[in-house]
Amino acid sequence: MDLASRATILTPSLTLSIDSKAKAMKAEGIDVCSFGAGEPDFDTPEHIKAAAMASLDAGFTKYTPSSGIPDLRQAIAEKFQADNNLEYKPSQIIVSNGAKHSCFNAILATVQPGDEVIIPAPYWLSYPEMVRLAGGEPVFVQTTEENGWKMTPEQFEDAMTPRTKMVIINTPGNPTGAVYTREELTALAAVAEEEEILILSDEIYEKLTYDGAEHFSIASLSPEIYDLTITVNGFSKSYAMTGWRLGYLAAPERIAKAIDSIQSHSTSNPCSFAQKGGIAALKGDQQPVIDMRDEFQMRRNYMFQRLSAINNVSVVKPQGAFYTLVNISRFSLTSQNFSDRLLSKANVAVVPGIAFGDDRTIRFSYATSMDIIKNGLDRFEEFCRTL
Ligand code: PMP
Repeated sequence: MDLASRATILTPSLTLSIDSKAKAMKAEGIDVCSFGAGEPDFDTPEHIKAAAMASLDAGFTKYTPSSGIPDLRQAIAEKFQADNNLEYKPSQIIVSNGAKHSCFNAILATVQPGDEVIIPAPYWLSYPEMVRLAGGEPVFVQTTEENGWKMTPEQFEDAMTPRTKMVIINTPGNPTGAVYTREELTALAAVAEEEEILILSDEIYEKLTYDGAEHFSIASLSPEIYDLTITVNGFSKSYAMTGWRLGYLAAPERIAKAIDSIQSHSTSNPCSFAQKGGIAALKGDQQPVIDMRDEFQMRRNYMFQRLSAINNVSVVKPQGAFYTLVNISRFSLTSQNFSDRLLSKANVAVVPGIAFGDDRTIRFSYATSMDIIKNGLDRFEEFCRTL
């Protein structure tokens, strides 16, 4: 056997199998309505692209400090202060190749064999795999529709063992669209603080909240919680910059230092000119962010209204991100089976919830045009009626 055991324990991505089927159908000329996207369907705002292009023209094409250029780390520190009431020094901030990379660095720096990491399910599918790659063990807490797909402090406490090292909180959440309130985070933080559990707070969808739901950063609750928390954020979702591979984290100095070492010996710096784009994103006009959010909100309202009217499925109104989780358990099919049939019979592609640790559900992304949403929901409604 030439593979390391860590490489063989990973679960193949279920999202990819549906996605490749949908792509093959499209290539055959079949009109597929795809709700699988995990990225904004907008282009990166012009002023961000212009800043990166200008830096390329100026020859900004070499290595940078491994954890990011000082002016970007400064701009991120200012963003944390302004948006999240969080005081981080630039030395506590590590810029990486996307928020996914930031999450992985954070887990690699803190989780080791024997450690357990609590992950509320449904979860973003990379968390458990990252924990396993670090030699740790994911421990899932099943959330419910009744609780808006959010983990309660009681559930958190029940999942805790002497081996618990970390909890992962993702708000606004993928795939649930759930946004934890300040009060809910305060209650979870109290549990974490009592046992000194680290918190990985993934806030990548921060700018996408609806109906006045407010994003809140758990690290800002108290100095004790700040000292236990690694806050992750990035440019992919807020600024439609998924392909740029630019994200960041902020952590207590001791953890930031360890992450800096890991990054300097693995990937080195994130792309030089992408970092210049990052500065323009944070310091430039924020109107494009608001416009994209408004568009997502309109689609989400339409989608929720349509899905709520369909028999035999249930939905919780998402408060953030760009996903709606639909409970299809009344059809007594696995989520994979349901999604396969939906694709082959109705030409609608969704992601089966089993990919996120919840076989009762399927995930619709509304990072796609209103035309596709309308057409796809017509087909979905008919599919559910005749299934
Ligand atoms: N966290 C969550 C919850 C996500 O959904 C995603 C993107 N799918 C990421 C992190 C990674 O984002 P990035 O493109 O910055 O790596």
